[in-house]
Amino acid sequence: MSILVPFGIKDGVLYEPRQVLNGKDCGCFCPGCNHPLVARKNAKTPHFAHAAGKVCGNGIESAIHLAAKQLIAERMELALPAVYVQLPARWGPDEDGWNWVRIQERNTLYNSCLMPLSKVSIEPWLDGFRPDIVVVEAGSDAEILVEIAVTHFVDENKLDKIRKRGIRTIEIDVSNARGAVGFDMLNRLLFSVPTKAKWLHHPQAEQMELDYVEKQRQERAERDAAEAARFENYRMLNPQEKIKRNIAKAQLQPKSLTSLTAFVPGENSYDDGRYAWQSAVLAYIANRFEEQGYLHTDELTAWLSKLFDISTQFQDAEKVALWKYLKHLESIGLLKQDRRDFVILMPPKNWEKSKAVQ
Ligand SMILES: [Zn+2]
Repeated sequence: MSILVPFGIKDGVLYEPRQVLNGKDCGCFCPGCNHPLVARKNAKTPHFAHAAGKVCGNGIESAIHLAAKQLIAERMELALPAVYVQLPARWGPDEDGWNWVRIQERNTLYNSCLMPLSKVSIEPWLDGFRPDIVVVEAGSDAEILVEIAVTHFVDENKLDKIRKRGIRTIEIDVSNARGAVGFDMLNRLLFSVPTKAKWLHHPQAEQMELDYVEKQRQERAERDAAEAARFENYRMLNPQEKIKRNIAKAQLQPKSLTSLTAFVPGENSYDDGRYAWQSAVLAYIANRFEEQGYLHTDELTAWLSKLFDISTQFQDAEKVALWKYLKHLESIGLLKQDRRDFVILMPPKNWEKSKAVQ
């Protein structure tokens, strides 16, 4: 089978079939193997064919690379894609504000533009790999590699080498066109803004993405440290100070504490005694009511263990005490059990008017 080649070369210049004489008279050679070509101007897709029997593996690729280089050299410019910096994914409300979703945002670092060039060369060897085309940005001496995907795309191995060299690289996809690539098509792909080309590697954008992730990690570490310090400060307070702070957070009157607390088995597992830890639970529930109206028992258990030293008389005594106390709050109408958790039924401002207080 003869291979269809979109461009033939004659005296160092590339031609489409329509630009030369038909058949053997075209005078063109294969850009891949240098053998004579035959122009098939009247084929459904005009193309060049190799003389019978000649097997050529890279005629198409070489022809397209050379044609692109020739067009770039004529204009000495190239359309570059916009550069985006992906921000780290975060959780937040969706547009309607109803659902909590993963949000992925990006910043535009540069818009797509037509970049003036000072140099264009084809397939020079760089340490261990051969880019399709290398261009140099006018005024900056910065190289940009241009990969043209004809039958296959840049593989991980090549991309690795590109990353190691740290050179900006774009990829132009002509794989849909196969043999039907012509100058018009290449002109559109190379010079239209915004371009359909995409960045394979952009060191500046990739570094900024790494910086964002690192900044986010540092902020999280600082938040965690600040939170640990707040818990430590709380633990240092004496029981009376803890109770005072809890009552203030729940916006309760000190006198209502007696009726909103209760004896429960295991209550002395928490080192500061009943009023301190039960008022902390009330403060927690008041906060959860504002946030979501729901109480996760496991989260509350973990939170209490950060606020109080725990020493138990029997196994899981502190958990039994907490459960019994939550069931007590259910019995006076503040909560309603929902499997292992609780729905918060009553806003904190009504607690003092609850059954127990009356
Ligand atoms: Zn050939």
